[in-house]
Amino acid sequence: MKVLLGKPVADAIYKKAKARISLLREYGYIPRVAMVQIGTASDDTYYKQSLMRQCERIGIQADDVSLPETITEEELIHQIQLFNENQEIHGVMIFRPLPAHISNEKISCFLDHCKDVDYMNPDNLGKIIIGKSRGRLPGTPAAVMEMLDFYKIPLEGQGIVIVNRSLVVGKPLAMLLLDRSATVTVCHSKTKKLADVMRRADIVVTAVGRPELFTASSFDSHSVVIDIGINKRADGSMCGDVDYSSIENRVAAVTPVPRGIGVVTSAVLLRNVVYACRQLSGLSMVAAFEERWG
Ligand code: NAP
Repeated sequence: MKVLLGKPVADAIYKKAKARISLLREYGYIPRVAMVQIGTASDDTYYKQSLMRQCERIGIQADDVSLPETITEEELIHQIQLFNENQEIHGVMIFRPLPAHISNEKISCFLDHCKDVDYMNPDNLGKIIIGKSRGRLPGTPAAVMEMLDFYKIPLEGQGIVIVNRSLVVGKPLAMLLLDRSATVTVCHSKTKKLADVMRRADIVVTAVGRPELFTASSFDSHSVVIDIGINKRADGSMCGDVDYSSIENRVAAVTPVPRGIGVVTSAVLLRNVVYACRQLSGLSMVAAFEERWG
């Protein structure tokens, strides 16, 4: 069984991003992102701090923006408009889920689609369906694609089951896989005989958010298993949707949790900041710049 680690994939993404950041800096632009945390949830704080450390490492300027849990929709929209107007900020990441009194649907439309590095804005999601996202892709689905490509797992004609139909994971990922000529089945909590459907797949992607729900009986020995779930066991330790110990050496390959998809998602999101900087600077119209961008 092959263990598909995220770090080498993320390192390759950061290496390329770093070279592109140097190029942008040569032309006088420093990619800059606002990391917006609403409230004080410790998971968000940990994630934000880890992203900010990565930003520093590769040369992205990151603004740490903490907003109170009690912020109103109107106040948040005003804050988003300030980010939209600030020409020095190229990307905005608002950590989700938002507090219950704030509508994700309402807020997401206000964020400038060029600065929307985390794909909140429905316009950006729509671009994935028509295949016009120009290199910028939603974090987790793009991380899955990066992982599969890095480890040279063929996609064309392969049967791929995604257990998730959310806008963050399942729906955009299905589009990206279809574009690569995979045969995609999207499952969810109402799917009948889920284990049978999963067992027939060449590749299974799970993102249900239930600790260690899937055991060996859901997979074929030839399956490649991509576990996106980030869950906590009763003792507080982190695990995926798949019971790793039950499937160990009983499938062809698996992404572990932690050390799997999560680090790749972070790398893709920061790469999106670099793309946003290029787009907003207008440098994509400069032939000499584009030649070196590659
Ligand atoms: P979500 O919106 O709650 O979606 C969960 C999906 O799983 C839904 O489609 C749901 O079906 C389905 N589901 C739930 N229980 C099921 C079951 N017993 N059998 C079959 N399907 C089931 O959550 P999300 O935001 O997409 O996130 C899902 C998981 O991925 C979470 O653990 C989250 O932490 C993780 N995640 C990881 C990353 C990363 O970068 N690693 C990024 C984003 C999310 P219904 O639609 O029928 O309810």
